[in-house]
Amino acid sequence: MTKIALSEQVKKLPASATLAMAAKARELKSLGKNIISLSLGEPDFDTPDFIKEAAKNAISENYSSYPPVDGYADLKESICRKFKRDNLLDYAPNQIVVSTGAKQSIANIFMALLNPGDEVLSPAPFWVSYEAIASLVNAKFVSIPSSFDTDFKISPEQLEAAITPKTKLLVLNSPNNPSGSVYSKEEYYALAEVLKKYPDIFILSDEIYEHILYPNASLISFAAIPEMFDRTITVNGVAKAFAMTGWRIGYMGAPEWIAKACTKIQGQITSGANSIAQRATLAALDASPQKIHYMVEEFQKRKDLIVSEISKIEGFKVNNPQGAFYIFPDISYFFGKTIQNTLIKNADDFAMFLLEKAHIATVSGAAFGNPNCLRISYAASVEEIKTAIERIKNALSE
Ligand code: GLU
Repeated sequence: MTKIALSEQVKKLPASATLAMAAKARELKSLGKNIISLSLGEPDFDTPDFIKEAAKNAISENYSSYPPVDGYADLKESICRKFKRDNLLDYAPNQIVVSTGAKQSIANIFMALLNPGDEVLSPAPFWVSYEAIASLVNAKFVSIPSSFDTDFKISPEQLEAAITPKTKLLVLNSPNNPSGSVYSKEEYYALAEVLKKYPDIFILSDEIYEHILYPNASLISFAAIPEMFDRTITVNGVAKAFAMTGWRIGYMGAPEWIAKACTKIQGQITSGANSIAQRATLAALDASPQKIHYMVEEFQKRKDLIVSEISKIEGFKVNNPQGAFYIFPDISYFFGKTIQNTLIKNADDFAMFLLEKAHIATVSGAAFGNPNCLRISYAASVEEIKTAIERIKNALSE
């Protein structure tokens, strides 16, 4: 057998915890187990018909050759209009790069900006791949802890205390995956005040959940804060808002020199994003956000249901998220307890217990930088959510 000779970076790279749990749930389902999958952050709606039509037309119209590396010109113009309409941001087409999912946009930015040893700061809980991609480029990922008591948000003082001369990039994500927390305008302005003192730090604002926002929550794009535009890269995509996870289209608005660098990277790695999916994205972004509001209304019903039901279970401490489709209960109450002959030492054990004894797939908070919590995605039907709650109650009461 050939010697296993993986690179050091890949050896230390963890598999994506969200995708790993989804794969495990799929595997158990294929073995005939009745698993309810609340692990993956993926809308359970179909892509709207008007978007699918645009893709079918693109096939008929022979959009089959290599697209421009940074995206079709008319799509980039549409993204500029979207940024203006939804985010009050004035990007020009040469500041836009279309990629294979927001995840690739993030990877491009990390590769473009970070040298080995540079520090990437991000409030915890954070989305699993920020840390992993930082490690791929040999940057140091530094998380700033938060907890249930602060609605999983950090203070300006915490941000300032975490900054070092090596800090190069701050990654913000609101609405947040996994907590669903949303920073208010005032909270973001207060973080920006700190950053004004450190002009060499760039900000990556991951706004992929912007449209999944519940009443009374207000959202602001970080780049819209005075003095932040020239140092912020705004990342977004169509996966979550338009139920287009599999189409793999993300995009960024960035200072032109960063956009150019990301285009260069992408030109060597993917040659650009899928042509048909780009045409579909054009239709999605040109539509009024009202057109997809039915999904947000449905998510809100589910959120209200799951928050109210799960908080009745002893040991689950849950906040009331203002966006995205996750809850992130603190389940540390169960640590050290033995239930159904299983000792629960930590959140990983708890997630495994729920999978094995209740057939519910969730993701341990440890992967998101908070080992006291569990991420539950409620992108599932009301029926599934009700059944899941019953199963969790039963498994815990045995
Ligand atoms: N972003 C989604 C999640 O957190 C999809 C999976 C992934 O890319 O991590 O579940």
